[in-house]
Amino acid sequence: MSIKVKAIVIGSYDYKEKDKRVTLFTLEKGKIYAILKSVKSKNAKLKFAKELFCFGDFFIETPSMVVTGVDVENNFFEITQNIDKYFVACAILEILNTTLKENEINSALFLETLKALGMVAYGDVNDKYVLIKFLLSIFSNMGYMFALSNCSVCGEKFSGKRYLNLDFGEVVCVGCKSANCIEISPRAGTALKLLNDTDYDKLSTLKLSKGSEDEVLNILNINFDRRFNKKLKIL
Ligand SMILES: [Zn+2]
Repeated sequence: MSIKVKAIVIGSYDYKEKDKRVTLFTLEKGKIYAILKSVKSKNAKLKFAKELFCFGDFFIETPSMVVTGVDVENNFFEITQNIDKYFVACAILEILNTTLKENEINSALFLETLKALGMVAYGDVNDKYVLIKFLLSIFSNMGYMFALSNCSVCGEKFSGKRYLNLDFGEVVCVGCKSANCIEISPRAGTALKLLNDTDYDKLSTLKLSKGSEDEVLNILNINFDRRFNKKLKIL
């Protein structure tokens, strides 16, 4: 039997002598693994399909999971031409590799991934804004809200400083902060809110105070590490 899935390559590893094993994020089946046979030679028909970010229709034999054909829709080539873009896009793949469970379907996240990679590849936008939005979305799907106006414990409206409780991944006020908290400065709090409330395709219009995106990204990365035991590589 064979299946056809819309997929993006989010991981690619050597497998046996001449083959590659790829991790695919698919629209229809969530995260799956597949084998690309003899794709290490220059003339291999499917060699392009072992590259990260390759997106299109994949035809896969089951149960061997050998890929027999790929109709590429986009390879996001521009991402590989710029080191800043590449790091951000790889961080997005890393987030997916870490958080997706095998065969768990998430079509909204699939579409968001394409949108985010498209913005990194072609958008006139600070790539870190895209990464922050993507992380906020992942956390919010898990029930962790970062862009709140009110303390998640007492409900008081924030004035000035707020804190991330690392034990629970919650944002709290000065009165509710406990020992294991890190500060979110007022400018980072504002940046979080603005990034959360702005759509991907409007990100180019957003100008945050300089350096606030790095502060936000650092906080979100600490939280990611706490929740998934994995630190993202970010330039
Ligand atoms: Zn509070």
